[in-house]
Amino acid sequence: MSSSWPAGPRRVLVVGIDGVRLDLLPELDTPHLDAVAAAGFLAPVEVDDATPTMSGPCWATIVTGVGVAKHGVFGNHLGGNRLDVFPDFTTRLAAVHRRRTFAAGGWEPLFLARQGGPLFAAPGRLSYIAPLEDTPQAWEVCDERVTAEAVYVLGSDDDPQASFVYLGAVDETAHFLGCGEEYRQSIRTADERLGRLLAAVRARPGYAEEEWTVIVVTDHGHLDQGGHGGRSTLERTAWVAAFGPGIEPGAPVLTVRHPDVAAHVYAALGITPDPHWTLDGRPFTPALARV
Ligand SMILES: [Zn+2]
Repeated sequence: MSSSWPAGPRRVLVVGIDGVRLDLLPELDTPHLDAVAAAGFLAPVEVDDATPTMSGPCWATIVTGVGVAKHGVFGNHLGGNRLDVFPDFTTRLAAVHRRRTFAAGGWEPLFLARQGGPLFAAPGRLSYIAPLEDTPQAWEVCDERVTAEAVYVLGSDDDPQASFVYLGAVDETAHFLGCGEEYRQSIRTADERLGRLLAAVRARPGYAEEEWTVIVVTDHGHLDQGGHGGRSTLERTAWVAAFGPGIEPGAPVLTVRHPDVAAHVYAALGITPDPHWTLDGRPFTPALARV
């Protein structure tokens, strides 16, 4: 079966880290995120006026490439959504383009038929790993297992061409403990996990012949005491970092918005979006926007 799917050298990995404040990054030791930014860019993203600063709607916009008016996810209960019309990129690429896709993480509505989900309806391979309880510690264990699973799959002959890996411990830590030292440590730990995912990509036997795009993205910020959902700058400020074909290191990028992530995934794989998809996003760089 898989031998009939298109091969080609292009691959995309999207790493979603929930609730990472942009303003704290300069003071934190995050060498792997820094390396992604140095190979491409790191840009702020403002959650738009129509979108609640909640994980449900923000992740839905990031992975579908359309805004809330289309995908219909307005909160962390995803019920009433129109994801069947506006699917996530792992589902669309698998169904329409016969690409091998993979999604992994531990937050139920993204991966399970719970709370109106799943957001990731039908990737080629899906790994849901439940946190054993709703605590920062349990979420660190969950993220650790998600990372190990993704390292395995990225290195396996499953050879996913487009992947999404979700890490949730940072957000959970902010909700429980605010944006203090524990939160900062959780961001450093997420960066170590990003490093292992990048190492797994580089260790692939065919890496020299492959053309990888890596996108690291957060959904929203946090208030100092922890919490989000409002319209403050701290809550509305997210970010994207990325490198890959069509992204010149250090060159200016267009203003980046959340729906651009899915649009860039398609562009990076050489796929021209069907106008009927009515994507609201565009690739990060003019070079790829013209492809
Ligand atoms: Zn949250």
